[in-house]
Amino acid sequence: MKLALIGSAVDPAIGGVLVFGDRGTGKSTAVRAFAALLPPMRAVIGCRYACDPALPDVWCEDCRARTQNSPLKSRLVPVPVVDMPLGVTEDRVVGALDLERALSQGIKAFEPGLLARANRGFLYIDEVNLLEDHLVDLLIDVAASGENLVEREGLSVRHPARFVLIGSGNPEEGELRPQLLDRFGLSVEVRTPTELDQRVEVIKRRDEFERNNAAFVAKWKKQDDALRRRIVAGRLRLAGMEVPDAVLESAARLCMQLGTDGLRAELTLIRAARALASFEQAAAVAVTHLRRVAAPALRHRLRRDPLDESGSTVRVEKAVQEAFGP
Ligand SMILES: [Zn+2]
Repeated sequence: MKLALIGSAVDPAIGGVLVFGDRGTGKSTAVRAFAALLPPMRAVIGCRYACDPALPDVWCEDCRARTQNSPLKSRLVPVPVVDMPLGVTEDRVVGALDLERALSQGIKAFEPGLLARANRGFLYIDEVNLLEDHLVDLLIDVAASGENLVEREGLSVRHPARFVLIGSGNPEEGELRPQLLDRFGLSVEVRTPTELDQRVEVIKRRDEFERNNAAFVAKWKKQDDALRRRIVAGRLRLAGMEVPDAVLESAARLCMQLGTDGLRAELTLIRAARALASFEQAAAVAVTHLRRVAAPALRHRLRRDPLDESGSTVRVEKAVQEAFGP
C-alpha cells in the first residue's frame, strides 16, 4: 500500500489506488498520514480550485478572467486530501447552484463541491464498494479527464478537477464491479499481520501515538522529511526516465501470459515501474521494477479462471516467475 501511494505521488497519471482488506488494518490511517507527508504546492490565492500559477493552460475561468487586470498572487498550501463521506449526494460531489445566493440576491452562482476541493490532490473514499455505481463511474471519469463539467439548473460550469482517486474497502462487505475495478491504476491487498513481532510493533506505535501525539510526530519527523525529499526528487527524475524496449517487451509478454483485456494493463505497469525507478533514482527502468509493481498493477485485471482457484496476487506472481525466472 505504501509503495502504491508513493508511486501515485511521484506520478499521479498512474490512475489511483484501490485498497482492499480486513477492517482495522490501518488503511485510512495510512492515507491520512500520507497526506501530511506530501510536499506543499503553490496555489493562486482566492481561487476555489487552488489553480497552479505556473500552469495557465489549466486555470479555471475565474483565474483567467482575473489575470487580465493584475498578476495573480500565490502561496504554498498543503496538498488537499478530501474525504468522501458515504451517503454523500451527487450535488455535494460535483457542486450545485448556490441556493442561498439565488434566493436572496437572485444571482445564479456555482457552489463548488468535493471535486473542486480535491483538485491537484487526492480524493479518498472509504468503503468505495458501498458507494453507488453511478457515483464511482462519475468519479473515475472526472479523475481521468481532469475536468468537472456541471450542467444543471440553468448553470453551465467547467472547472479543473485533477486528482488521484484512492478507494478502500472490505471485500466481505461487497465487491466492486469488474468494469470499475480495472479503471483504477493500482490495487493492493492489506491483510492482518500474522507475525507476532509485527503485531507488537504496530500496537506499540499506535499506543505511543495516542498517549503523546506531538512526541510521536517529532520522533518520526526526520524519516518523514527524508521520504518527502525522495518523492520530490522522484518527480523531477520522472520526465527523463527511460524505458528500454526490452522492458516494454517484458511488460507486454507478462500481460499476454495473464490474458488481460486491452492494453491498459501494460500502460499502468510501465507507468508504475517508471515511478518506482524514478523514486529510487535508478538509471533506467529495469525488469526488477516491473516485477515489484506487477501484482498491484495487474491483480485486479484478471478474468476469473474456473480452473485456477488461487488468489489473483498468486496468479500474477506465478506468471512473473514464468516470464522472468525465479
Ligand atoms: Zn483558479
